[in-house]
Amino acid sequence: MRFFLIAGIAAVGVAAVLLSLPRPVQAAPAPAVTAQAAAPLAQQSDDVRPPVVTPQMRRYSRTGYALYFAGTAYSLLTLWGVLASGLSARLRRWVTPLRSSPARLAAYYALLTLALVIIHAPLTFFGGYRLQHDYGLSTQSLGAWLADEGKAVAVGIVTTVPILWVLFWLINRSPRRWALWFWGALIPIIAFGIFVAPLVIDPLFNKFTPLPPGPLKTQIEALAAKAGIPNAPIYVVNKSRQTRTTNAYVTGIGSSARIVLWDTILPPRTPPDQVRAIVGHEMGHYVLKHLYWGFLMSVVGLLIVLPLAQRFLEWLLARHGRRWGVDGLTDHAAVPAFLLTTTLIGFLLAPVTNGVSREIEHQADVYGLRVTGDRPAMARAFVSLSAQNLSDPDPPAFIKFWLFTHPPLRERIDFALGRRSVPRGGTTAPKE
Ligand SMILES: [Zn+2]
Repeated sequence: MRFFLIAGIAAVGVAAVLLSLPRPVQAAPAPAVTAQAAAPLAQQSDDVRPPVVTPQMRRYSRTGYALYFAGTAYSLLTLWGVLASGLSARLRRWVTPLRSSPARLAAYYALLTLALVIIHAPLTFFGGYRLQHDYGLSTQSLGAWLADEGKAVAVGIVTTVPILWVLFWLINRSPRRWALWFWGALIPIIAFGIFVAPLVIDPLFNKFTPLPPGPLKTQIEALAAKAGIPNAPIYVVNKSRQTRTTNAYVTGIGSSARIVLWDTILPPRTPPDQVRAIVGHEMGHYVLKHLYWGFLMSVVGLLIVLPLAQRFLEWLLARHGRRWGVDGLTDHAAVPAFLLTTTLIGFLLAPVTNGVSREIEHQADVYGLRVTGDRPAMARAFVSLSAQNLSDPDPPAFIKFWLFTHPPLRERIDFALGRRSVPRGGTTAPKE
């Protein structure tokens, strides 16, 4: 089984690297324009220039895809290595002098994280720092980048240890049904996490300020009134501290829900009509309550996945636990086996979760178009995103299937220009 697992991972990694090798630029598929759909738009779409696909863009995108697959394979192999080498058992032995169980767990997890950070340092540095600088996308010094990474690692330890503590407590209390109990425990934990992230976690890395008064704010307020959300909080985040890329997003639930614009996207870099198109998309997420739907889908998904994870972990430890020096699922030294299981499941489910995400993103595009009524602006906004973020508008089909959370930009441009039909299903129209 071990060899099949490693062989499988290696095969996926090799496939990823092969896919990421430079290939001749594919001709864009001819858009299926029906006379009926195109006629009223013909004039408008004329002044939308198609995205320019540069070799640099292709290389950057493909390196990113390869990094995802190679990174996943590397994670799985190194987690296996941490168990099989006995390192995990040794770390657990080091912390046994500590008296309380929560302290032992916290110390063990901090040491394990440190070991994994060191093992992953080359890939993290290449993907997170070097690549961004090579392509002129980063604005961060090495020191500032390291400080952000350090903070992220600390946040990871502080937020994960209590969840692991709950998990071990449940495994001890209910060795047979812990997966179901843990599922129940995760519901409030996830909801709390979504609520608190924009209030506590995000400000550790960036500064968030309300959108400053001016013509853009007036225009966005008018859009918000049209969408029936006149009081939706809209923030600007100083992402220019880290990057030249552009984006916007919706985060939080309840009173922490908000629309956030990266300062890199604001005019004059992106023209106001394009910013409005992007805000219209974000308003779609906000009005259609996509974060709530996402939460609900995770809850349902976990109900299916957690019992499978329990089975897999029990099988894994029954087979290898003794050799690894891991004394069953209640042993803190089993944590890398938990991480290995979640990484593997997350990877295998990526086509499903990303497929759902692409559909949700498309709904937000549909909404955005309805609320702004400006097709060319939305299309031009996507052309700008492609150029500013070096994002390949036509990824290989397999890459789209496995790791695209949004429809590829070419599809979104075609949709904005009315070259693709509006999908089935009811999407709430904004008040007009
Ligand atoms: Zn979106």
